[in-house]
Amino acid sequence: MQPTTCPSCRKPMSKHRFERLLHGEIILDLCFECQGIWFDEFESVQITPGGIIELFKLLHEHRDDQRQPLADPLRCPRCSEKLIHGLDVAKHGGKFNYHRCLQKHGRFSTFAQFMIEKGFVRQLSNAEIDDLAVKVGTIRCNGCGAPVDIRRDHACTHCRSPIAILDPQAVEQALARFQHAEVKRTTADVEALGDAIVMREREKSRLKRQKPEPENAGIIDAIDLLSAGAEFVWNLIRR
Ligand SMILES: [Zn+2]
Ligand SMILES: [Zn+2]
Ligand SMILES: [Zn+2]
Repeated sequence: MQPTTCPSCRKPMSKHRFERLLHGEIILDLCFECQGIWFDEFESVQITPGGIIELFKLLHEHRDDQRQPLADPLRCPRCSEKLIHGLDVAKHGGKFNYHRCLQKHGRFSTFAQFMIEKGFVRQLSNAEIDDLAVKVGTIRCNGCGAPVDIRRDHACTHCRSPIAILDPQAVEQALARFQHAEVKRTTADVEALGDAIVMREREKSRLKRQKPEPENAGIIDAIDLLSAGAEFVWNLIRR
């Protein structure tokens, strides 16, 4: 299978298999440097709860990868046309953005925007942003990757994305819902999934013992609100 070119950095994206909602599996293209997913047509709505947990696992595994802001314009991996910025409202209420090909080849979403779409992330209120701004000056926009000085701005000045954070309550509720759905759907696989996660954790702590913690990867990564949240989600999943 030909690799898909990342709409932002133009490097080959990595393919990952996720369980599809009705049957079989779906292969999605991910770029961890750009923190983005390419969906052919309407792939996103078809991932199972277990597939979304799998995605969290991947985000966690790649949390130390180099990050870079999204290119402007983004280009369709199929026809190279510019992707068009779109805005939608998730079932749970949050607004999320994405970039779609006018020729209907698919769409590109950042991981963060995808989490908003799936109800894991909520927007901060103005008061909450002000509280956060006292401790944290500049954060990384989860829509486009640009730095946002939240002491001054309550949304990204570049792409207008709101300031969002992984919502512990929503995550816990969503996971309960997802795990329940997953148990109902694939009872036999739940144990296997648990085993896989445990294995991965053992491997990780082994690696951690071998190499010292990397130096702080830089201001922008250090205050990625959603990466911090992904760590939290990981701990919930692990429990
Ligand atoms: Zn990329
Ligand atoms: Zn296209
Ligand atoms: Zn932005």
